[in-house]
This record gives sequence, structure tokens and C-alpha cells, in this order.
Amino acid sequence: MDFSRAHDAHPPEQVVRLQDSAGGLDGVIALHSTLLGPAAGGCRLWTYPHFTEATQDALRLAEGMSYKNALAGLPLGGGKAVLRRPEGDFDRAALFRAFGEAVEELGGRYVTAEDVGTTVGDMTEVARHTRYVAGLPPRDGRPGGDPSPWTALGVFRAMQAAAEHRLGRPVGDCTVAIQGLGSVGASLADLLHEAGARLIVAEPRSAVAAAVATRTGAEVASLGAVIEARCDIFAPCALGGVLNARSIPKLRAAIVCGAANNQLGCEEDGTALAERGVLYAPDYVVNAGGIINVCAEYLGWDSDEVAARIDAIPDRLHQVWADAEQAGIAVNLAADRLARATIARGRAPAMAAP
Ligand code: NAD
Repeated sequence: MDFSRAHDAHPPEQVVRLQDSAGGLDGVIALHSTLLGPAAGGCRLWTYPHFTEATQDALRLAEGMSYKNALAGLPLGGGKAVLRRPEGDFDRAALFRAFGEAVEELGGRYVTAEDVGTTVGDMTEVARHTRYVAGLPPRDGRPGGDPSPWTALGVFRAMQAAAEHRLGRPVGDCTVAIQGLGSVGASLADLLHEAGARLIVAEPRSAVAAAVATRTGAEVASLGAVIEARCDIFAPCALGGVLNARSIPKLRAAIVCGAANNQLGCEEDGTALAERGVLYAPDYVVNAGGIINVCAEYLGWDSDEVAARIDAIPDRLHQVWADAEQAGIAVNLAADRLARATIARGRAPAMAAP
């Protein structure tokens, strides 16, 4: 496969094919950019019918990580590992041992962590074979472990900024519709409830939805109806691609701000949101809290540093909104432009040894 042609506009620096039949490893590590530092991004374990689809996912996600890390002001480039989940039962430890060895061979150009389908336990196995890994159990009160609460805090800070910017009132005076009550969505619901916001939630696991509703007084909507809920803010916290030509005309929210990666079906959907008068808070600016915590773990920063960097997410949003207005372009395009400029300007800052 010609990887440079597969991602014409912004080709990856390196794509490494992973194959170890003994360990069951079959996948790819895509290093989109190391200009700002080691390419950092999680390891996804998912069912892909063919290697080509796994590769395409890795390329797209690695580029997204470059942009996310750049706009979060982190000394990290962007990368991603995508592994094809073996069929049937498989030896998980052997798979992640082989993966850890592959990460080690890259000599620190790529730093891995959890992503969809991988766990803290998997990264603990990876850490037996390489230093270039984060998302390990926290020690001595230092950053580590599940990054979701930090992601939720970043989304909450972004919503505070968006509510003031678009509606001129605090988020606590808003109605927020949350799509998905997983690790991030449920934490976000708690933060919003504490702030006084009214909540509408949708989640396929009905017991989880019921528990959040009991805790926060949220109204439970059906999966299909949440996107058209009468609310101020729509928060996608489940799936990618939820904002598209079919869903955008149904939106009643004035703001879209949530944790899900790749919320826009395509670039033009950002323009469609703007034309509808919806303020978009770009996903990778909003959901950077988790990678900020991962970076802190890897570089040895403390939790105060994590909180301070998450508190800076609204500054980045204001910059992107202002750039979009000045250039007369959609917010997602302004964010991409700012991220690319940040990377192009970048000098890899000095990194402490892990
Ligand atoms: P998760 O898997 O814990 O939660 C996703 C939730 O969405 C689940 O509870 C699932 O049941 C629910 N869901 C699935 N389909 C749905 C539907 N049609 N309607 C409503 N709910 C649905 O994932 P998470 O860690 O909470 O992450 C949520 C999103 O944020 C994902 O897109 C993820 O990629 C992104 N994200 C997460 C982090 C993090 O730190 N966890 C960081 C950055 C981005």
C-alpha cells in the first residue's frame, strides 16, 4: 500500500507494519509527526476485516493526535497504534508483549497508552517490554491510570467557556443533552449537575442511564431523540460522525461541545453547523484533558500541572473561535489551520527522560 498517497495532504512520517504470528500481533503503528516531540497516542484493539482498514484508521487517528497534542501545548507529536483483534480466544499477554517489543524497537519515537479496546492491565504488560508507555496505575498520588475524569473536566471547562461566549450565561443556567454515559459522559454529568445545569441524557445501557438520572435528576431521552433534544448544549460523548448532513438539521442546541473523537462526518459539516448558527467547540481541542494527564504521567509532571493545562483549554477555544471569525471560515477549519501552523513552527522542546 502506498501510505503517502493514502494521506495525500498531510502524510505520516512513518508507518510500521506489526506482524508476529506467535504473539498474534497484526496491526500498524502510524507516526504522523514527531516535530513537537515523540509521537504520542493510544493503542486501539478492534475488529477490522482487513489490514487496509486498520491502517486507514491508524493514519486518520495519528493525524488527529498530532493536532490535539499541538493545540494542547504539549511537547508531543502524534501517533497511533491500531491492532486487529484476533478471532476467538487469544493470549492477551502474548499479544501485548509482542506489541511492547515493537514499541521499544522504535526507540522512543512513539509513546503508547490505552485507547478503545485496551486497558490499564494491557499497558502494564506493555511496560514490561518498553519504557515508552503511559496509562499505568497511578503511584504516590501522581498522574496515571484512567484519563477519563480529566477528559471530562476539560469538556466541562470548554462548556463553561462556550456558554458564556455564545449565550452570555454560566453553564449552570443551561440545559445540556449528553449522548453517551461511559467513562467520560458519566463524569461530565456529575460535574454539570454540581454546577446546577439541567440534564438530558441518552445511553443504551439502561441501568447506567437510570443510575445517572437518580444521581443528577437528568431526564432520560431515547438514543434517537437526544440529538434533537430541546437544549442549549449538545454533548456527543459516545460515537464519532454524529454530526452529519442528516443530523445537523435536527439540532436544536446553540452549542456543540463534547468528548467524542471525530464528531464531524466530514469537513463540510463544520460549515453546516456554522450556517445553522451553532457554535462548535472542536472535539480535539475540547477532549485533550486525557492526553494532558497521559503526558504528565510520562514526563513526571504533577496533578497541579495537569489541572493548570486543562484550565487553559478555554483560551485555545477562544483563539480558534476568533480565528474562524476573522478568516470567515468554519471553526473546525480554523482549528486545523492553527494546529498545522503550530506543528510547522514547532521546535521539539527538551524532554525529560521517562
Ligand atoms: P466509553 O466507551 O466508556 O463510553 C461510550 C458510551 O457511549 C458507552 O456508555 C456506550 O454505551 C454509549 N453509547 C454507545 N452508543 C450510543 C448511542 N448510540 N447513543 C448514546 N450512547 C451510546 O468511552 P469514553 O471513554 O467515555 O469516551 C467517550 C468518547 O470520548 C469516545 O468517542 C472517545 O473516543 C472519546 N474520548 C475519550 C477520552 C477518554 O479519556 N476516555 C479522551 C478523548 C476522547
